[in-house]
Amino acid sequence: MSPPAAVSPPQQVASLATPAPKLAGSKGGSKTQTIDDMIGQWDSFKFAPIRESQVSRAMTRRYFKDLDTYAESDIVIIGAGSCGLSAAYVLGKQRPDLKIAIIEASVSPGGGAWLGGQLFSAMIMRKPADAFLREVGVPYEDEGNYVVVKHAALFTSTIMSKVLQLPNVKLFNATCVEDLITRPSDEGVRISGVVTNWTLVAMHHDDQSCMDPNTINAPLVISTTGHDGPMGAFSVKRLVSMQRIEKLGGMRGLDMNTAEEAIVKGTREIVPGLIVGGMELSEVDGANRMGTSPHLQLSASATNETPGPTFGAMVLSGLKAAEEALNVFDLRSKQNAL
Ligand SMILES: Cc1cc2nc3c(=O)[nH]c(=O)nc-3n(C[C@H](O)[C@H](O)[C@H](O)COP(=O)(O)OP(=O)(O)OC[C@H]3O[C@@H](n4cnc5c(N)ncnc54)[C@H](O)[C@@H]3O)c2cc1C
Repeated sequence: MSPPAAVSPPQQVASLATPAPKLAGSKGGSKTQTIDDMIGQWDSFKFAPIRESQVSRAMTRRYFKDLDTYAESDIVIIGAGSCGLSAAYVLGKQRPDLKIAIIEASVSPGGGAWLGGQLFSAMIMRKPADAFLREVGVPYEDEGNYVVVKHAALFTSTIMSKVLQLPNVKLFNATCVEDLITRPSDEGVRISGVVTNWTLVAMHHDDQSCMDPNTINAPLVISTTGHDGPMGAFSVKRLVSMQRIEKLGGMRGLDMNTAEEAIVKGTREIVPGLIVGGMELSEVDGANRMGTSPHLQLSASATNETPGPTFGAMVLSGLKAAEEALNVFDLRSKQNAL
């Protein structure tokens, strides 16, 4: 467990049941209205009164409390794509005692899982990844060896709603990881947290000065930052620049059958304290890609049966990342406390 925080972490057991929505007026003694109470009554309709500073304080008080609580996290997940969200779901549900911070560079979490290949709607998952869809409650059509979710956004919005309801998970979006915190170790270096900044600030380091970052300490970091790009493959690129790994393997050509297993099986702790999963792993291992991309030419074999990225490997890589994390968590926590 991480060192004690100034504000106690939430302790209650995670419930994935839909909480009752809090309607305006439910605290101040006024009647809690239903939708039916409002329908057809718009002439007399009125919002509960509010002062602007109440809105401001309601947001900032909670955000600063979260910054305080999660400054010492148990696990940090970098990237809220399909892999990171799947890892967060499993970890947050299985271990309600752990504080899990997700750092997402984009304003909108979800990574590349809002659409299928070539911006088509459907999401294809090869079996047995359909087990995860049943776990989170996403409907699909069974096509034999693979299943099809009618819209990728249905998967992404569903898993995100489950993750965000977990009381021990905090998503910091519009925030990027711009460096890793390191400690000396027998293996050379151990990762013991992340250096963060507002993404919009990080994008302006070249034209503004003195925009120092913030930090989150954690005995374990799971990096799922996706393909190489302006933000992607972040941690593995940083491991190269800090000479912890020699070079990236580079994502290889398309081969769905080889690629998906490679991503899942290869999900592991790459250096002590840093687990890498999802498509970020294909950059370090030189694994094949298995989906379609607007940047690279489509191969005929990719369009025959499974038209688009098969996200099964991403979610199962998230599951494996969670498993690897729990396997080493106690050891890394002990080392981190020194
Ligand atoms: C070139 C290319 C090839 C593709 N190949 C495949 C394929 O082979 N198979 C397949 O299934 N799909 C493929 N896709 C589709 C799809 O992008 C991925 O499957 C899927 O989105 C990868 O999931 P992920 O969780 O690993 O990463 P992503 O969905 O990319 O999520 C990564 C998240 O990390 C965030 N992030 C990045 N850097 C940082 C940082 N420094 N700090 C904080 N957050 C950060 C990003 O904003 C993003 O939300 C491909 C897409 C492209 C563009």
